[in-house]
This record gives sequence, C-alpha cells and structure tokens, in this order.
Amino acid sequence: MRNELIAIEQSGIYSNFGPVNARFEQAILEAMFGGAGACLTVSNATAGLMIAIQYAIGKNSPRRRYALMPSFTFAAAAQAALWNGLIPLFCDIDDEFWTPSADAEQALIERYRDEVAVIVPYATFGNGLDLARYQRLSQRYGVPVVVDAAASLGSTDGRGRGFGAGFPFLFVFSLHATKAFAAMEGGLIYSSDPSVLASLRAMSNFGFEVPRLATTRGLNAKMSEVHALLALAKLPEIGDVVARREAAARLYRARLEGWVFQRAAVHRQSHMFAPVLLPRGLRARRSKLVRQLAEEGVGVGTYFSPHLAEHPYFAATCVAGDLSRTEDIAGRILALPLSDGITPDEIAFVCDSLLRLCGSEGA
Ligand SMILES: *Cc1c(COP(=O)(O)O)cnc(C)c1O
Repeated sequence: MRNELIAIEQSGIYSNFGPVNARFEQAILEAMFGGAGACLTVSNATAGLMIAIQYAIGKNSPRRRYALMPSFTFAAAAQAALWNGLIPLFCDIDDEFWTPSADAEQALIERYRDEVAVIVPYATFGNGLDLARYQRLSQRYGVPVVVDAAASLGSTDGRGRGFGAGFPFLFVFSLHATKAFAAMEGGLIYSSDPSVLASLRAMSNFGFEVPRLATTRGLNAKMSEVHALLALAKLPEIGDVVARREAAARLYRARLEGWVFQRAAVHRQSHMFAPVLLPRGLRARRSKLVRQLAEEGVGVGTYFSPHLAEHPYFAATCVAGDLSRTEDIAGRILALPLSDGITPDEIAFVCDSLLRLCGSEGA
C-alpha cells in the first residue's frame, strides 16, 4: 500500500478518473458483474444517487414530481430526490424482507400515476429485490428505476454474481466506512448499459461531456486516486469479509432463537450489522435497553428509526402513504454490532447481555 501511495504521489495524478480509478472500475466490473456493462466510481453514494436520479428523470414533464421510495431507509435517498427538485413519496415495506412492499408501491403508483418521476427502491441492509418486478413496473407505467443498493456491495446471487448484475437500471452502491465493502468514503454506480454510464461520468465531472465544456447538468462527484486505491485493495478481500460477516449473522440468529430477523432474498448477504426486532412487548423499553447495553460496552443502533417520514425536514416536505408495517418494524429494530473481526465470544456477550436485560419477556 505504501509503495502504491508513493506511486500516486510521483505520478501527480490525484483524481479525474486516473489510472488507479480505471483499474478499480474494470476489476470490480469483472469480479462482481461478469464483466458486462459498466461501473463508475463516485465520491459517495449520496452524490451517486443525485446524479443517477437526475439522469433518470431526464427531460420529464414537471408534472412528474414524486420520487417513490420506502420510508424505511437512510436520509440520503430523500435528500438526493429533494436536490433534484422532487418530492419523496414514502411507501411501506414488506414485513419479512423489509424491502419496499409490492402492494404499497403499486397502490401509490396507481394513485399518483403520471406524477411519479422515478422509483427509488432500497435493497434493505444488503438484501435482494425482485428486479424482474421492477422491470415490469417500469415498463407498465413508463417510470425509471434507480436502485439504492448502498449496503449491497458483496451481496451475491446463487451463481456468485453481484446484486444488480445484468439489469439495466442504475444501481448505486456505497463504500462508506460503515458498509461491509468499506473504503473510508466512496460510491459506485453500475448499469448493464455502458452508454448510460458515459453520460453519468460527465455529470459527475461538472457536466463536461467535452473537456472543460459543460453540456449537461453536473457536479463534482469524482473519487480520488487514494480512495480508488483503498477500494482496489478491498476487492480481493470482499468474499472473505462477507463470509465472515454472514457467519457472525448466523451466530446471532442461533443465540437469539425465536427472535425475528430479516428474511433473505439473496444467496449471500453483505451485512453491515445484525438487525433484529425486539419482541412487541419490549418496544416501549427500547431506548432504555440501548442505554443499558451501552453501559455494558455494547454499541447498538436503531436503523432506521426514526424512519424518514418521522424526520422533521421530511415530515415538512414529503408525502407518505400508509406506513403501518414501517412503524412496527422501525419501532422495534435493534442493529446489533457486527465487524469483520467480531468473535463468537463477543457475539455471545452481546446476546447474553440483551437477553438478561430483556428478562423473561425476551425469551
Ligand atoms: C450508507 C447509505 C447511503 C449513503 O451512502 P454514502 O456513501 O455515505 O453517501 C445511502 N442510502 C443508504 C440506504 C445507506 O445505507
């Protein structure tokens, strides 16, 4: 790594799609997406979502002003839509997969029809989505799809292909420090259609389709050579990282028998943490439990609670359909700690602490 950093220093090329970045884009395209289509690095997934949504809505009629997305996701998706002048339209999630509910999406699309500009489903916590269903939805209603796959880099299907491989939508992945495929900060956009990514590349570089000449809307969303180097170094490890994290997730499931975990829709899931639902009877005690666990040295999150429709800014600017399953799941979720190096003893400690603090109600 040190030598490669020195090589970047000596080359004098620090950004603007340099040679390390080009190597990473090609290597990940081959490793994850069977070498077909194209990958574009971005500075982070939020900027990636901004340009992907901008590209997808294109020259839409201004009547199309809604971005259909789940409320059970991270603020980045709603912010990216708002930066594009769209109003997030929040739908409910499926109670087993925790991904956007097909019925809820259908109902909102039927209700808002030609006012929906883009569908932005979230592949929740690295889980899969029924992408064939999104193809049908997109064709039937003439609405483009941008997939928030922020946590999905490393998730694969039964043939070992990365989530999204072969699909023409724009898939936006994050390489943020909190994700399984972590390179400090970074993002990646994949599409099976290389011509789409050529336009996005210009958009990520001030809208320059010709050197230093803005011909389309853009911003600076480029990845630096140092970040690309970190990402390139991570690539050969990702299979092991995901396998270790999956083994840890299985241990959590075994030790918290009878608790409700997310149902998987991918062959291998790239886990950021180990989300589990508190029994309904303990819902009101969640914040106290989180505090008590912290006192024992166990850092537990509550992603995504509050869910987006509950954030003050989004409550004031966005529109929501029925969110009863989101309310239920967000109200009970606990994100238990997971890292590349977490040990079985640490997992046992977390689970024993949780079970003890929950008392007989957690059984
Ligand atoms: C992490 C995350 C993002 C944002 O990714 P950044 O690379 O940090 O911008 C967007 N959406 C979801 C669902 C995420 O989990």
